[in-house]
Amino acid sequence: MTPIAQVRPGETIGFIGLGQMGAPMAANIVAAGFDVLGFDLAGTAERLPAAARAAGSVRELGTQVETVLLSVPDGGASKAIATDIAAAPGSIKVVIDLSTIGPQAARTAAATLAGAGLCYIDVPVSGGRSGALARTISLMFAGPKAQFDRLRPLLASFSGNAFHVGEQAGQGQALKLLNNFLSGTAMAATAEAVLFGLSQGLEMKTILDVVAVSSGQNTAVTDKYPKRVLTGTYDAGFQTALLNKDVQLYLDHVREAGTPSQVGHQIASLWAACAAAQPPGSDFTRVYEFIRDQKPAAA
Ligand code: NAD
Repeated sequence: MTPIAQVRPGETIGFIGLGQMGAPMAANIVAAGFDVLGFDLAGTAERLPAAARAAGSVRELGTQVETVLLSVPDGGASKAIATDIAAAPGSIKVVIDLSTIGPQAARTAAATLAGAGLCYIDVPVSGGRSGALARTISLMFAGPKAQFDRLRPLLASFSGNAFHVGEQAGQGQALKLLNNFLSGTAMAATAEAVLFGLSQGLEMKTILDVVAVSSGQNTAVTDKYPKRVLTGTYDAGFQTALLNKDVQLYLDHVREAGTPSQVGHQIASLWAACAAAQPPGSDFTRVYEFIRDQKPAAA
């Protein structure tokens, strides 16, 4: 079989959704020498990385690119864009969805685009805004291996950790949801553990330093708490509402799969309550304050 020609720097790439994650990823793609044409519903010019070009709409963007990346909040936004593209694909052939939308929404988007002869690939990302800036985010690519090989130079331009996790649409999403369930669990459990330690006269920094090199280690202890909670900055760049969306999607899909969900249930309830109590746009590291300020359960 003849290998498909690789995507190469110099080629024009579409990028839809230039938010906390999209803007730094698009900037790294530009820095690697690709020509980026961006679009964001809330205003492109003010979110566009330097040296990228702005499109006025998804349709306008579709007249100039074969490959388009999405980084939008949820399945509703991905679906709207997939429907728009399927109705008028222009020159688009491949849609790479970097958003977290869950397996079912990914399968729906794949079917919508397949109906128009286009390839949809779910490639959710993990590692936060800091990872997007530093190119250390991981990519969970679910789609044809031949496409993964063809797209390698583009993927490498914004991530040093691209994984081909499966051939079927939605498998990347499944991996991403289970990852964010673990991340959300670590964030919540670390709040409880730290609060107990403080009640015993320990300092937060001491607790984090010791656990970071002990068996309780997790990303909340090694990264989020020392950098965003201990500092009082609460600025990981990931909204509580988005993490809540992810853990609810995780629980929905676990229920559908019939796999165990005792812990998942507790964590999903906790994040739902946290999201309901927080103002819009709040950073998910504020779960620490949310848990700290709750009344203790009766003994
Ligand atoms: P964000 O809200 O900062 O950015 C999303 C952008 O998409 C916004 O600028 C919004 O205007 C734009 N948008 C929404 N609908 C659109 C549409 N129909 N057409 C064009 N643009 C549209 O969100 P984010 O934090 O960058 O997250 C993006 C995705 O990545 C989400 O699915 C999120 O769950 C996932 N994610 C976020 C992080 C993080 O740490 N922030 C980490 C991993 C994955």
